[in-house]
Amino acid sequence: MLPTSTPSILQHNLRRETLPTSTPSMLQNHQQPESSPKRPSIWQRRVPSAPAVQAVDSKSGLALMWFRTDLRTHDNPALLAAARHPELVSLYTWAPEPEGEAAPGGAAQIWLNEALSALSRSLESLGSNLVLRRAHDPAQEVANICQDWGVQTVYFCRRYEPWLAKADKILTETLMRQGVRVESFPGYLLYEPDLVQMDAKGSKGHWGTLMPFLSSCRKLGEPRRPLPRPTSLPPSPPSSVGGSLQLVDLDLTAHGQGALTDRGTSILQAWPGFDEETALAEMRTFVGGSRLRNYEEQRGRADLPENPNSKLSAYLRWGQLSPQDIYWEVKKTGLSEEVVQTFERRLFWRDLAYFQLNAFPEMREKPIRTHYAKMAWSQDGQMLSKWQQGQTGYPLVDATMRELWSTGWSQQNMRMLAASFLTEFCNIDWVQGARWYEDNLVDADIAVNSMMWQNAGRSGIDQLNFVISPDNGQSQDPSGDYVRRWVPELTDLPDKFLHRPWEAPPEVLSAAGLQLGSNYPERCIENLSEARAACTAATLEMRRLVADTQWNDKDGYDIIVLPDGHVSKVFTRKDLRLTKDGKPAPATRSISADSDRGGSRRWGNAGRRGQKDQAGGTTKLPRHALPEGTSQPGCSAKEQLWTMLKQGGSANAIDLDSDSEV
Ligand SMILES: Cc1cc2nc3c(=O)[nH]c(=O)nc-3n(C[C@H](O)[C@H](O)[C@H](O)COP(=O)(O)OP(=O)(O)OC[C@H]3O[C@@H](n4cnc5c(N)ncnc54)[C@H](O)[C@@H]3O)c2cc1C
Repeated sequence: MLPTSTPSILQHNLRRETLPTSTPSMLQNHQQPESSPKRPSIWQRRVPSAPAVQAVDSKSGLALMWFRTDLRTHDNPALLAAARHPELVSLYTWAPEPEGEAAPGGAAQIWLNEALSALSRSLESLGSNLVLRRAHDPAQEVANICQDWGVQTVYFCRRYEPWLAKADKILTETLMRQGVRVESFPGYLLYEPDLVQMDAKGSKGHWGTLMPFLSSCRKLGEPRRPLPRPTSLPPSPPSSVGGSLQLVDLDLTAHGQGALTDRGTSILQAWPGFDEETALAEMRTFVGGSRLRNYEEQRGRADLPENPNSKLSAYLRWGQLSPQDIYWEVKKTGLSEEVVQTFERRLFWRDLAYFQLNAFPEMREKPIRTHYAKMAWSQDGQMLSKWQQGQTGYPLVDATMRELWSTGWSQQNMRMLAASFLTEFCNIDWVQGARWYEDNLVDADIAVNSMMWQNAGRSGIDQLNFVISPDNGQSQDPSGDYVRRWVPELTDLPDKFLHRPWEAPPEVLSAAGLQLGSNYPERCIENLSEARAACTAATLEMRRLVADTQWNDKDGYDIIVLPDGHVSKVFTRKDLRLTKDGKPAPATRSISADSDRGGSRRWGNAGRRGQKDQAGGTTKLPRHALPEGTSQPGCSAKEQLWTMLKQGGSANAIDLDSDSEV
């Protein structure tokens, strides 16, 4: 059940932005620290300072609650504030055009369709109705509604895609000119990106990565606690009756590259529900049961009857859950930091993605390491198509791509496996992979997806510093149940050959009813080592073009330009580092987890070295590699490295390591 206690937002640390501001704020604002350095334009507040206008009573008149990616009635600060008015219009505008290609894709639209239906029911149960509109220009639509229906105050939760934040600013200005008051609230992240301070100098080559980000977030205090659901909502005005489209008129299940009816059905069947009650129940089951406790150990397993991950990403994406809900539910368990930290950090990864998107608004398609735009990617359309359709002949890759198509989801390490197969073995541009995911994930999120694909494509703030073998399921699928579930053609193959059917003798294939090239594809790459070497060679060739420029530092690390104009070196795989004259860079003193190796870490191999645990858990740094007093039990290598840096260690003298975890 949703909490129904009397709404009170006074005690919560909310960062409300109100325009006009002539009415004293009833909410405590979460102010920027006074010591904030001057930020470049992208960090500026989204709304201009208020002009002198006549004071209005903030609680009087008709309010409009504009739902976007906050499709919930609980923990919704904007809705809670709007509920104080005597009359309320609840609005959702479906407006993919201004978002262009970044608009929700086919699978996400299927989820959205259900989520809107559920939100509408929730609002009705509280006494309000959801007005649905289709708009080419949502801001204009909101402005028109305000004018037509005499809305006095508009409420919404802020969005953090820079182009949408800009659109919000324009809308706010338009509404102000109409004499409409605007109140916006944080509702999607734990910490708003413009509050998090990370300067290039202090980050010592780790700018934009998780550890300094976590450290900056912690300086802001704990995230606010979830807000209660309003006990009831004000009625809608008679003028709004008949002003809504039917949900079916939004045509949400007919968009996207592959939004076929059969896929819609399979996605709908794959999930327990699309409403906020289900979201909360799923969260409580995950947190209160054994899965959170076993997350560290088991999250890499794709073959268990119940997936060990939370599977909450789509609920978060559509705002049916808030990250605060999850953060505080985890805290309530009283479990030790060691048990929960890997899971808890996932929420910070989510915030980090928006921090990065605000710093690099074009990261959806433009490499953050700008010189990587020169990379010579393969243009093999057939290979791309095999990957998309789950027909590569590599059972693990095919299983995850088919799961993605059927359910709109797959777990993190399987996404990484698919991404690394495309970018590290097929040498296909990460942008192609990102597009496919955008269209096929129910949780498709521009910021997170772009961050993860940039890292997989080697052009992000981070680079994956391990290889996920596509032909060895020991970590992800030791029982073989995952492949058998999604690639039923292979059901009768003995375990020994399940992840490498090409090694099976003819009689084994025949006994399993398998004919490679006929009822299951031949593998699309015969020699993985050669394919990967070719891909690395192509990357080195591109890096050689800039070896003697400002984009390559003296130790062979890539250099990026930060939004404030500073430059920063970023983690660069050892095998990709070049000296200024284009030769392989000599190894720097390394304290990273792969300190004993010359190349990148391998993960998911029978004979793998290093200290990755069975489930691909956090790599522990060898204690002896750290200065005394900095080694902490349960801390990841990255965290200990970061601790050392903060205590004065020099990032120039050591080997930066990747943050990426499976
Ligand atoms: C190539 C690639 C593309 C991805 N695209 C997306 C995407 O479009 N949308 C998306 O939400 N996640 C994306 N992820 C991150 C991650 O795979 C999913 O969030 C996760 O698998 C969702 O399952 P879950 O809810 O069980 O996650 P859990 O492991 O239970 O994690 C809990 C929550 O933390 C957040 N989270 C987890 N991992 C990450 C991460 N690496 N970065 C940011 N937030 C994270 C999610 O909101 C997730 O629901 C991508 C990962 C890869 C490798």
